[in-house]
Amino acid sequence: MIPKNKKLIIFDFDETLCKTNGLIKRVKHTENGEIEDFLTPGEYSIWRETGEYNLNPKQWDLDFKSFTGYPNEGEIIPETFALLRRYLEQPEIYIVALVTGRDELSGPYKFLEEKEIEVKKMIFLCSGDPNKRMCYESLFNTLHPSSVLVYEDAKAYITQCEEICLKYDIPFDFRLIGDGTIRWDWKL
Ligand SMILES: [Mg+2]
Repeated sequence: MIPKNKKLIIFDFDETLCKTNGLIKRVKHTENGEIEDFLTPGEYSIWRETGEYNLNPKQWDLDFKSFTGYPNEGEIIPETFALLRRYLEQPEIYIVALVTGRDELSGPYKFLEEKEIEVKKMIFLCSGDPNKRMCYESLFNTLHPSSVLVYEDAKAYITQCEEICLKYDIPFDFRLIGDGTIRWDWKL
């Protein structure tokens, strides 16, 4: 039986539950050579939302090595981990999902399982792309949540989640994570 009409809590993985300490390598090929730089996951999602990449994907090389498989350098973020545990202890009220921009889930799943998170009670989704809207669509249409609360370190995904909540008229709230803690001072 699929639970319906519960409060849906969505956690991102990298830099929200797990301090991955990784960067995305970005190389731009131009007529005059290559320009290389490094982006945090948050910076990367904002850049992708600008659409610059989609204009000419062949111009770019992107390397997500730090965000593939098990996060060997990963450390738990205590504040969000404690909240995750608390939500999972109250299944009559909450349903908990993990939505990551990674292209696979075995690494995050194993990381949480090893930290004794009750992963069997969670829903796991990956977008494989800096667009999590389809994941939110799937969750909302399956679960019909009474409200949504999202924990994210990337503002672009908070905005995407709000957009889909507005579409379905679902009450929406969020917590922005920055430097391993909840940024209570921050508003959309
Ligand atoms: Mg993240």
